[in-house]
This record gives sequence, C-alpha cells and structure tokens, in this order.
Amino acid sequence: MEKEVRVRFAPSPTGVLHIGGVRTALYNYLFAKKNNGKMILRIEDTDQSRYVPEAENYINESLAWCGIVPDESPLAGGPYGPYIQSERKELYKEHVNRLLEEGKAYYAFDTAEELDAMREKLKEAKANSLNYNSISRNSMKNSLTLSKEEVEQKLEAGEPYVIRIKVPPKEEIRLNDMIRGWVMVHSSTMDDKVLMKSDGMPTYHLANVVDDYLMKISHVIRGEEWLPSAPLHVLLYQYLGWEDSMPKFAHLPLLLKPDGNGKLSKRDAQKHGFPIFPLEWKVKDEDSELKGFREEGYLRDAFVNFLAFLGWNPGTEEEIFSLEQLIEEFSIERINKSGAKFDIQKAIWFNQQYIRKQPIELLASNVSRLAKEAGFDCSPEKALAIADLLRERIDLIPELLEKGIYFFTTPKSYDEKVIRKRWKGEAKNVLTYFAESLNATDQETSDGFQEKLNAAAEKNNVGAGSVMQLLRVAVSGEQGGPDLMKIMEILGTQETVSRIYSAMTEFDKIINDAR
Ligand code: GLU
Repeated sequence: MEKEVRVRFAPSPTGVLHIGGVRTALYNYLFAKKNNGKMILRIEDTDQSRYVPEAENYINESLAWCGIVPDESPLAGGPYGPYIQSERKELYKEHVNRLLEEGKAYYAFDTAEELDAMREKLKEAKANSLNYNSISRNSMKNSLTLSKEEVEQKLEAGEPYVIRIKVPPKEEIRLNDMIRGWVMVHSSTMDDKVLMKSDGMPTYHLANVVDDYLMKISHVIRGEEWLPSAPLHVLLYQYLGWEDSMPKFAHLPLLLKPDGNGKLSKRDAQKHGFPIFPLEWKVKDEDSELKGFREEGYLRDAFVNFLAFLGWNPGTEEEIFSLEQLIEEFSIERINKSGAKFDIQKAIWFNQQYIRKQPIELLASNVSRLAKEAGFDCSPEKALAIADLLRERIDLIPELLEKGIYFFTTPKSYDEKVIRKRWKGEAKNVLTYFAESLNATDQETSDGFQEKLNAAAEKNNVGAGSVMQLLRVAVSGEQGGPDLMKIMEILGTQETVSRIYSAMTEFDKIINDAR
C-alpha cells in the first residue's frame, strides 16, 4: 500500500521568513492537498543563540495570509507533537544514546583552539579536506582515542563535549532526489557532523531526521541549500535502522536575483525597493524595516499565484490559478531544476489580473479602509464608484487612494504645462459658461456633465475636446486619469463647480506669474 502523504514545513525561527521559505511552505501544502495528505508545521528552534521571539508569530501570520493551513502544528496540535523541537529534547537524547551504544557516534572533547590547530595542520599538509573525519579524528580528543575511563572521568567532571556521527571511511551514499535525480557522495568527503552538544540540545541534522521519522514524514520538500546535508541524513536513517521508512527527497531550485546572477537576498530587496518578504517586518535593533507583499498592496491570491510559478509551471500557457486550481494541477515532476529568477514585474502583472477580477465590493472596502486611515470620509457608494473607476488603472491596492486622492481633497497644485498652453481665449469662456450652467443644487450624472460641457463648447464655437484637459486639471489637478465625466459625477455638482471657480483664479495667477 502507498504510504500516506505527510509533508512538513520546518522553518527555524531565526528571523524574518524569506519568500523562498514561503514558497517551500506553499509547495508542501499543494503537494499534501493534491494527494489527500497532511501538511505539518514544525518549528526547528534548536539553535537557541539565533532564536528571534517574533519570528514564530511571523511564520504563523504569513502562512495564514497565504491561506496555507497546516493540519498539524504547534497551534493546531496533532498526534505526533510536540511540534516545537526545543520541547522534544528527550527524544533526541534517546536516539543519540542508541547511536553511542552501537558505536555509530562518539564523544569529542576538543576545544575550539584544538579544532583550529587541527585545521591548520591539515592545511599545511595540503590535505584534501579539513574535515573532522575518519582520518583526522584519530589524532583528536574523543571517545575513539581516549580510554573508557578517561571518557567517563571527563563526563563526570562536566567537561564540555559534543557528540559526533562516526561517518564510515569508504562508502558510497546515494539518494534519488525527485527533482535532481541520483545524488552520490563518497563518505570520505563527509564531515563527522555534531549531532548533540553537552547542553543536551541536538543540532539540526539529528533533530530533523529523528522528527521526520517519528512524524512519519513521507516526502521532504525543501530548499536546494539543504541538498549537501541530505547524504548525512541518509546515513543517519541507515544508522538508526530506518532505511525502509526514509522519506523521498525533493530539493527545490534556488530563487535568483532579478538578473539571474546569484541568490536573491535581503540586499536586493532594499536596493530595488521591492518586497521579498510576505509581510512587513519591523524589529527593533535591525537596521531598517523590511517591506512585505501584503502591506505593499498585493492581493493574497496574486501573491500565491506568483509564488507558485517561481520554480513550477503547469506545462500549459495558462497562468492564472486560484489556490484550489493550483492544488489540482500541482506535481513535483513539473518543478524546474534550474534556479528561478525573481521578477517583480511578474508579481505586479499577477496583481493587476487579480485586481481586475476581484468582486468590486472587496475593492471598495479597500477604498473605504485606506480613506479612513488617511482621515477622509467616504460613503459606501463613493467607495464603490471610485473602485470601479480605478480598478483598471492600478497595480497595487494603496493606489486606490494615491491615484484618486482628488476624490477626497481639492488639488494642492495644478499641472502648469497644460495651463500655460491652454488657458486662454475661448477656453476661459467655455469653462465659465460650463460652471454657470451647472446648477449647484442638481446632482448631475456623467451624461449630464457631458451634455452641459458640449453645450458650453458649442456656444463658444469650439469642440468640447479643446477644454477637456483644462477641465481635468481644474477638478483633479492632474493631466491624466479616468473618465472625467465620471470623476465629476463622484465629486458631485457642487464640489465640481467650486473647484472650477477656484481653479480659474489659480490659472490666472499662474499665467500672470509667468509673465
Ligand atoms: N530548519 C530548516 C530550515 O530552516 C529546515 C530544513 C529542512 O526542511 O530540512 O530551513
């Protein structure tokens, strides 16, 4: 019988969760749901020196924003808990003791200086590797070179130690990665990695393998940066006698800088001013705050769609996929081997597509929220009308306010180029006539505005087009924008009339000042 699909996302709470981490979580989630399996969130907090208290909350919030709901997690619980590694220390101890008893691991008492000296010596001797391995370990201070009594004495005296895995001298370690194919490593190139420190804290390698086994993980889907550790993990499965239940591995391609040269980094985000984190990250003591996709105004579905395509594709031309459709289509076979270039323009494109598809009420609620945050009143009808008018013209949600600021406040300045070019003769008469023809007590529709403008132009023997730009600048301050008649309809007749009058005075001043 096929094993139940159980995958895990296992972040370390050492800081802000990078977009690559969110992608790993998403692929795990898609794979689990596609295969009627379970997705587990496990917090790998064994490196206490790098622990950042806000990080765990940030992970939870980021996953929740993306709609990724783990079946088992520190918050949700589950049959294989606890799901936080620092709460599982006894389990790791039990297994490392077994490895010690079976001669597959050993105590090492070397100080930092002694380790440095060892590496220096190896360097001088032009050794192939500077590893603590089957050769170098023979001249170090460990339970392979010391007598049993000496070891016991040191342990009793409370001397600091580490427990290292005893890598065999000459063996081929293989694994068949679902994305990369066969990976083979000769054990002579491997390091006797530390499994546990004297404070009883396991290292990542031990804890990761023990937990994947105990949590019955069927597939390990994680970033490519962990591929070099995979042979060690395979060896641990062998040593612990768990080879038959070893999970399948899938190492995801790296996320690359926009130009494809190297790994995408925090610095790229800061340099180019785009977000590479799901949510904003504001932590004291860090040099600056980091932008988040959510706060920058990306819609969740757009972000998830964009993320899914960073390293995967469905094999068709289609690009717009909801989370449900992604689950339907997802397969590990369609994950690319090569790195995925991070292209913010693509993220913006996805966002535009989703903004255009969104129910207008949702966009309107964003207008209301943004207006309220900025201290403006906005009726639900006005919010709806603005959302409808701007949805085709924005990339990011905050632009609903930024690009429509004139709906809330009179123009602070006017596009002078337009005024210098067009504020003369007939134009003045047309605008004056138009303003006078608008009865401030009537609420005109956009068609009504158009008719009155046409009439005003006709009266002065010009086309309405000749004053359109001036009128736009008068009511909005800007040269471009959505349908002007609709803008005036939203502003209302009274406000439109009063804006035209104050603008005409300002226009005159601008012309006079220029003289
Ligand atoms: N704790 C590791 C990390 O932070 C997990 C790696 C893995 O998935 O095995 O990425």
